[in-house]
Amino acid sequence: MSDPHFSLCVYCGSRPGSQPKFTEAARAVGEWIGRHGGQLVYGGGCNGLMGTVAQATLDAGGRVVGVIPKALVDKEWANHACTELHVVETMHERKRLMAEHADAFLALPGGIGTFEEFFEVWTWRQLGYHDKPVGLLNVAGYYDGLMQFLHSTVEQQFMGPWQMDLIRMDTDLQRLLPGLVQDAGLAPAAQLEAI
Ligand code: AMP
Repeated sequence: MSDPHFSLCVYCGSRPGSQPKFTEAARAVGEWIGRHGGQLVYGGGCNGLMGTVAQATLDAGGRVVGVIPKALVDKEWANHACTELHVVETMHERKRLMAEHADAFLALPGGIGTFEEFFEVWTWRQLGYHDKPVGLLNVAGYYDGLMQFLHSTVEQQFMGPWQMDLIRMDTDLQRLLPGLVQDAGLAPAAQLEAI
């Protein structure tokens, strides 16, 4: 397999959620990564949307890099089908390695683990620790409430509009994913949309 064209770190639920649309979106993201010669970086689990996005990437010919703490491997949650599976000691090491391997970050629907990872890379971006694009895919209105709340934090002046501008939020992955890869300076969006 040749070097991947880009490396996208995806944060998403270790559960499938209540609606088939969540699994369909995770599958479509994995297919998009694989079809465009990309690499998925993710938490290395085999459950829920995490397992779905990884399998779809592999099925579409993409590389999958999983980074998982030893404690979760011991619980048999690791996905041994990954192209590369890194087993690390701590959650902090995991997040650092995931971030280092990524050109851009994308959050799909998920729970507290997904939120924590998304907010961390967003925070790191606003502090200038990295300049990689950060995206949020709003599937079936899952993040409507969160977006409303975030806009209210700008109105209440705990955040500036520029901080909101550091994330790309979209309901359409065919628009969001090329945008993230383009923002990472890796390929013209037109080229990615054409496939
Ligand atoms: P959550 O959104 O709470 O389901 O958590 C998902 C995020 O937390 C993923 O992006 C993973 O990095 C991490 N995580 C939580 N549960 C697991 C699991 N069972 N296996 C692997 N990683 C997990």
